[in-house]
Amino acid sequence: MTLRPSVALMRFQNSLASNVGQGLCVFLPLIMPLFAAPGRGNCRLADPESAARIDLESCRPAPLSPEEKAAVLASLPRDGEITALTGGEREKLAFVDRFLATQHRRGVYAVKVIDPAQAWVGLHGRAVLLITRSALRLLSAAELTAIVAHEVGHEYVYSEYDAAKAAGNSSELKRLELTCDALAVAMLKHPGFGWEPLAPAFEALARYNLEHFGTPLNNENYPPTKERRKLIDRVSRTLLSSRLRDTSVSRQR
Ligand SMILES: [Zn+2]
Repeated sequence: MTLRPSVALMRFQNSLASNVGQGLCVFLPLIMPLFAAPGRGNCRLADPESAARIDLESCRPAPLSPEEKAAVLASLPRDGEITALTGGEREKLAFVDRFLATQHRRGVYAVKVIDPAQAWVGLHGRAVLLITRSALRLLSAAELTAIVAHEVGHEYVYSEYDAAKAAGNSSELKRLELTCDALAVAMLKHPGFGWEPLAPAFEALARYNLEHFGTPLNNENYPPTKERRKLIDRVSRTLLSSRLRDTSVSRQR
């Protein structure tokens, strides 16, 4: 298989990566204590399945301050944002916005549609949600929202992810990706949303990018879509059974 990553996306990501590198010293002291602070209950994500057991509310990291968010926004490449969107595209973003509100992330992230050709969604610096137009066109509102939930999940493992990336630890990066999938399932159980579109959304993105650009250069850092689907099914079953248990306990009271 040929290695043909989108040059535009690579350039965009490289530009972000160098800025993220500079920003790490600013963000790490902020993030690190959040995983060790007393009174937050058990927020340890030892394995992807533990994401189904943590309390999302109390374990959610505090948003960046306005100054920190402004610094992240200033670090973005100047070109590449798309603001002329169709009505359908705006409707999808409005659905995403409703989901972000359920996670107290409405307005916390600046949402930007960007022009690299790859179908890609990413959370930059815990402050900017980047969605390529290809992803916006390819995915349904529910699928896009499921992928965004995965990105919100990255906030819970931000420092571990950066450490694994810096160390080139592919197996740890894969584990953290699966942890974000499990966190997404837990977030998507919120009324009005659902985890069912998550695995199909990953498959649609992978298929599109493979067909148009070949195997990504950093493929070894991501779990295969089959593995993602298995984990998503497993976690959703765990959550469903615990919810049924909760319901029967409350009925007995
Ligand atoms: Zn991810």
